[in-house]
Amino acid sequence: MTKLRLAIVGAGPAGIYAADILLKHDRPFDVSIDLFEQLPAPYGLVRYGVAPDHPRIKGIITALRDVLDRGDIRIFGNVTYGRDITLDDLKKHYNAVIFSTGAIRDADLSIPGIDLPGSHGAAEFVSWYDGHPDVPRDWPLDASSVAVVGNGNVALDVARMLAKHADDLLPTEVPANVYDVLKASPVTDVHVFGRRGPTQVKFSPLELRELGELRDVDMIVHEEDFHYDDAARAAIESNKQIFVIDKVFTKWREEETGSASRRLHLHFYAKPLDVVAGPDGRVASFRYERTEPDGAGGVRGTGEIREVAIGQFYRAVGYFGSALDGIPFDERRGVIPNREGQVLATDNEILPGVYATGWIKRGPVGLIGHTKSDAMETISHVVNDQSSWWSPSSPSEASVIELLESRGIEYTDLGGWHKLDTHEIALGEPEGRARVKVVPRDEMVQISRA
Ligand SMILES: Cc1cc2nc3c(=O)[nH]c(=O)nc-3n(C[C@H](O)[C@H](O)[C@H](O)COP(=O)(O)OP(=O)(O)OC[C@H]3O[C@@H](n4cnc5c(N)ncnc54)[C@H](O)[C@@H]3O)c2cc1C
Repeated sequence: MTKLRLAIVGAGPAGIYAADILLKHDRPFDVSIDLFEQLPAPYGLVRYGVAPDHPRIKGIITALRDVLDRGDIRIFGNVTYGRDITLDDLKKHYNAVIFSTGAIRDADLSIPGIDLPGSHGAAEFVSWYDGHPDVPRDWPLDASSVAVVGNGNVALDVARMLAKHADDLLPTEVPANVYDVLKASPVTDVHVFGRRGPTQVKFSPLELRELGELRDVDMIVHEEDFHYDDAARAAIESNKQIFVIDKVFTKWREEETGSASRRLHLHFYAKPLDVVAGPDGRVASFRYERTEPDGAGGVRGTGEIREVAIGQFYRAVGYFGSALDGIPFDERRGVIPNREGQVLATDNEILPGVYATGWIKRGPVGLIGHTKSDAMETISHVVNDQSSWWSPSSPSEASVIELLESRGIEYTDLGGWHKLDTHEIALGEPEGRARVKVVPRDEMVQISRA
């Protein structure tokens, strides 16, 4: 029986689901899978994107961990494709590779002032509060009034983490240095801006409703945003999610406000114009143009310019994938060009042996569950493409370990992740917390390899 030696690059949900689905797939060959991950710990954005106060979603890690714990997938953490291991290496040791490298950086928002000190990408902030080892450990939370631009769940995460009282994060796995900075934050007002109307948001109803449950935070919405036109009314009637979202807004419109020490303002019909510097050269205000429905489901500018004083600005306008050495990349969409997961060398030509799945395949939209259906599609091609797999000269499992060791790469493995996991949970126990994350990369590696 033939054996498929498969490399998967990226141990987020997409990579782990792909491995799991292949192992369970009906197939006329054996499989041996190695998962390469640039971080010392697996799980991608479930560990380093999902907010610490979302323990139910973080709990997906348990399901992913169960897959790895079966023991039929090897994991090599702290190994970066393009630096520690190359495409030529993979061709020498494997029959095929799946890239599941996700998207970790912020999409651009091209407005004047976006690069001013005090203007940040949501992804940077998320990486910081989730304890990503590769971002600076300090975060300057020095503003009382903050703007967040974007009308998706990441904007809500950022706004919630800024507005929430730090003590309410204590039971979670929020890293200690993040708690300290949030605790000292002088923030009183967080303003979220969206270009379109309240029935055109990309929020999940649950995430939106959660804002209203924050202790000592008033939700502020503005009546001028709720003069619904026919298109908005039709959206409420025809779309269950929008129906629930509208119910949440209605509740906030009717609520008394004024007693809380912090406020979270939602502004709709606000098209970003620029971020304005103060005399010290730092962010001082945000200017936007008021928009209005155009009658065709979109919005148009009204020419009315408004300005709000802020000390910090966050853009939450989407994530963006990164190019990988030797692999085609669509610069416009930030994805690996592919057809159902088969990577394309040109518009019509498939690159044999190379596949993609997850956010790097279809772009940074969708929930963790979507990466499963993605992986199914990709795996069905891997299985059916047997005739075009690579023919590796050195396919033994031992040869990969020899390669990594010959390069002096301090890789972490599944046993190492167990050690780190146990260590983090033990750190949290005395304080009654879910875990305390180890943040510095060298410390993560040291604990894993002990
Ligand atoms: C802020 C935020 C909050 C979210 N909250 C939720 C939520 O509450 N619920 C929900 O269902 N979904 C949520 N999502 C969406 C969810 O995180 C994604 O759907 C999912 O993580 C995408 O999976 P992926 O495996 O494609 O990418 P990722 O999770 O990004 O995993 C990719 C992995 O590849 C690794 N990698 C990248 N480059 C290399 C390289 N060169 N070499 C080796 N390894 C590499 C990365 O380190 C990473 O571990 C959230 C997303 C964000 C950004």
